Parts: sequence; structure tokens; C-alpha cells
Amino acid sequence: MIPPGATIGILGGGQLGRMMAIAARRLGYGIVGLDPQADGPLGQVVNRMIAADYGDLSAVRELASLSAVVTLEFENVPAESLSAIAEMVNVAPRPQVLATTRHRVREKSFLRDHGFPVTTFGAARNLGELRAVLDAVGYPAIIKTCEFGYDGKGQVRVDAPDEVASAWEKLGTNDAIVEAVVPFLSEASVICTRAADGRGSTFPVFENEHRHHILDITRMPARLDERLRRRARDMALAITDALGVVGTLAVELFVVPSASNGPSLLVNELAPRPHNSGHVTIDACRTDQFEQHIRAICGLPLGSTDPLHGGGAMANLLGDCWQQGEPDWAATLGSDPGLKLHLYGKASPAPGRKMGHLNLAGMDPETCAKTLIQARDRLCPKATP
Ligand code: AMP
Repeated sequence: MIPPGATIGILGGGQLGRMMAIAARRLGYGIVGLDPQADGPLGQVVNRMIAADYGDLSAVRELASLSAVVTLEFENVPAESLSAIAEMVNVAPRPQVLATTRHRVREKSFLRDHGFPVTTFGAARNLGELRAVLDAVGYPAIIKTCEFGYDGKGQVRVDAPDEVASAWEKLGTNDAIVEAVVPFLSEASVICTRAADGRGSTFPVFENEHRHHILDITRMPARLDERLRRRARDMALAITDALGVVGTLAVELFVVPSASNGPSLLVNELAPRPHNSGHVTIDACRTDQFEQHIRAICGLPLGSTDPLHGGGAMANLLGDCWQQGEPDWAATLGSDPGLKLHLYGKASPAPGRKMGHLNLAGMDPETCAKTLIQARDRLCPKATP
């Protein structure tokens, strides 16, 4: 057990690192962070920040030497840096988990080989392989770079054979996954936290609505029947066990129509860290995803994930809201006294950039979502028609 008062190292200086750090500080831990940008979202709330590239081995060793455990807010940390840290101190998630989840073909193969349902897929390293895989997978398909993709970046959809060559050129990779397009009814996610002794917990299932490939609204719980929600939580826990995660694993799911017995689930993607869809838990659950993660990696008992008021919703705030000038915070907060504003302290609000989010807890997630959308419209009336 790593007792409160010890120092936790965080690799990556964005909003996930910041919210992990805030939860950890509430529990009495100290924080040392590492990111090339020292004054970003994490840098504003740490005890100490090391400004360095993730590949700078002497800097990551310094982080490890100051930390009782190191955790990560993103997956693309160079393998040598992870090994250097792991030689000195525990890393959560373990490097083996990251090796699987950071690469789309390895991740989907792991899921398929362990019996979890995924869409039809194949690997392509050149145009010839791509054409062969597409013959097997069929059209329409989505081609994605295996590494470094997020929020729809590094993805191209192909609907017909004559689009294949230009799609490959556009992606500009020699390591891709080809996936059959899933005709999903909705998208959901489950966030699991697994303690070192193997005990696991899940939050209620989240329903996620995307806009331009970026998460826009999360409803908790998802509007699915109890059977499917149970299945989603059981499946996510089974994946967390199979990977041997200590800490957090977010499992992104597609809800798909099936001929018999109502809708079913396919796994889309895994992220071995707290996840944007879980931000609603900060104000709507007894223990939030960030605190639960910190408890798990420090060997503290996990907390209750029960909703405080039955459910809730979250709306992301993108940099687009700032394009007409400073957002009208008073109008937004004044629209509902239960509404909670979270801003990440980012200096430049570029369009599409995640700047913060709004949360609202309540019995009916749909009513919460509607209230949040109206509140967000007041914040940036011209940017969100
Ligand atoms: P990803 O980066 O894989 O999570 O993809 C981002 C978003 O693209 C997902 O949340 C879906 O909305 C969409 N998407 C990704 N893969 C597929 C697929 N195979 N079929 C349909 N939609 C997809």
C-alpha cells in the first residue's frame, strides 16, 4: 500500500493528468508530473513538474526516483521510457498492457483471441495488402492507423474499390487496421477499475454521442435494458481481468442490432486510463473515476461507484465556444444551479480542442443532457447552433 503523503508520478500533462492529480491531492498525495509543456493543465496543480520529452530517459528516471508509483494519462509513451521507469518503480498500467492497447491490430487480436466480440478486421502494411484485406472485410470499411490515432484522427472510410488508393495515400502509414463499418444503434462505454488483488469495480454504463468524431454528450446510465447493461459491465470486467490491468480500463462499445434476442454488443476500443466518458462521475457518483484510479494504483480499497442521484450527463466544451470571444460563464451557470463547470486551464482555445466540460447529476439522464445542451448554447450562442 502506498499511503497518503507519498508522491505519485504522472506522465502526460493534459486534462486527464490534471483530474487524476486533483483527486490524488484530495486524498493527501503529492504529485510530480512530466510533460514537454510545464504550465499546461497538469502543471498548474502539481507539487513539481519536469519539463521534458517523454523519450528523455534521464528525465523519466528523475520522475521515477521522485515517485512511489507512476501512472500515465496517455498511451504513446516510448517503450524504452516505460522500461526505464518500470526498472525503478511500479508503473500503472503495466508496460505489457500498454503494448497491447496502444496498437489497434494487437488490441483487436487480443480481444478476438480471448473470445470478446469485435467487428471483422485485418492488418495492412501496404496498398497490396490493403486491397487483399478489403476483399475479405468488404465495403464499407474504415482504415485506421494502428498507433497515435485519437478523436477520429488517422481514420479514413472507404465505400468502394476506386477510393482505396487515395485513402491509403491520405493515411500515409505503413501500419494500418481495416475494419468493417459497424451499423451501430448507439455507442456506449464501461469504465472498470481493478485493484492489485484482482477485485474489480465498474461505473454505470455510459452512452456516448459524438460530433465530428469527438465525444460531445455522455448520458449515465445508458438507455439500454438492464440485461444489456449487465452484459456490458461483465464483459468489460472480463477484459480487464484478461489484460491483468491494475488501475483503470475504459472499454468502448458499439450497440448493434441482432436478429434474435434484442441488441448486442461489439467492443470498439480499449483505453487503459480514465476516459472522457467518465467525467460525469466527478459530480454524479460516490467515487469518481479519477479517485478510483488513484485508490487502485496505491493499493487502497476501492470506493462505491453508485450514482448519487440516479444518473447524470456530461457535455464537452470545445475551443469552438471561444471563437466569438470569452464565453458567457454567468449565463451558463445561471441556467441551472445544479450544473458544474470544469475547465482544464488551457491557454489557447483552438477549434476542436477539449477545453472543459459541464456536468449535471439527476434521475433522468435525458433531462440532464437537454439542460446541459441548453446551458452550453448560452455559453457560446453562435458557435453551437
Ligand atoms: P475510434 O478511434 O476507433 O474510437 O473511432 C472513433 C469513432 O469513429 C467511434 O467512436 C465511432 O463513432 C467511429 N468508428 C470507429 N470505428 C468504427 C467502425 N468499425 N464502424 C463504425 N464506426 C466506427
